[in-house]
Amino acid sequence: MKHYIICGPPGSGKGTQSALLAEHFHLRHVSTGELLRKEISEQTDLGKAVEDLMNRGELVPDSFMLAMIRRVLLETTGVEGVLLDGYPRTKPQAEGLAELLRELGMTIDLIVQLSVPPDVILQRIQHRATVEGRSDDSVEVLKQRLKEYEEKTVPTIEYYRAQGAPMVDVDGTPDVDTVTKRLIHAIEKGSLEEGHRAGRELSTEEA
Ligand code: ADP
Repeated sequence: MKHYIICGPPGSGKGTQSALLAEHFHLRHVSTGELLRKEISEQTDLGKAVEDLMNRGELVPDSFMLAMIRRVLLETTGVEGVLLDGYPRTKPQAEGLAELLRELGMTIDLIVQLSVPPDVILQRIQHRATVEGRSDDSVEVLKQRLKEYEEKTVPTIEYYRAQGAPMVDVDGTPDVDTVTKRLIHAIEKGSLEEGHRAGRELSTEEA
């Protein structure tokens, strides 16, 4: 089972691209934002607890997210892997994921970062607000979401980088098709390099 993480600021196209990548590579697309919005629409205990936070553009507490991701990873079968979209967003979430994967004897195969400049993000979110009507897509709430991203998620990505985790950076500015092609290429290349690394380790052991 492969484990991929896709990260990028709100409006970077993570959700759209994740759905396309999941289909291409036969992965389960796990969007924590979507899972939370479902909890809210069903008015579950979790949904009720997180609704106000989400509508303000704040992050949901790590303990809730960890429990959610644990459940998702444990119940996932019948796919080639999992594509995490929107998790981890904080360092404690990254540490929790590492522990969970260790427990399951698994690792993170690749982290994909989608980069998009702030002016493009603003345009996209304003457009999405008119199409999807998401309650956290106002300019004011977007500011808070970007702030959370800068303060908590960027350091999380840096933490992975410092660890030497397998990572690629893809420009999310071009049209959807172009970005998808580049992402597919990046993931295929990443898997290949992973194979080479594994191969090298094997030959060192043999020597
Ligand atoms: P976007 O990336 O465009 O902001 P998402 O659908 O991924 O949108 O997330 C929407 C909201 O869901 C976030 O602003 C946050 O409140 C909540 N959320 C999603 N994933 C997490 C997470 N891993 N940790 C904390 N909160 C989360």
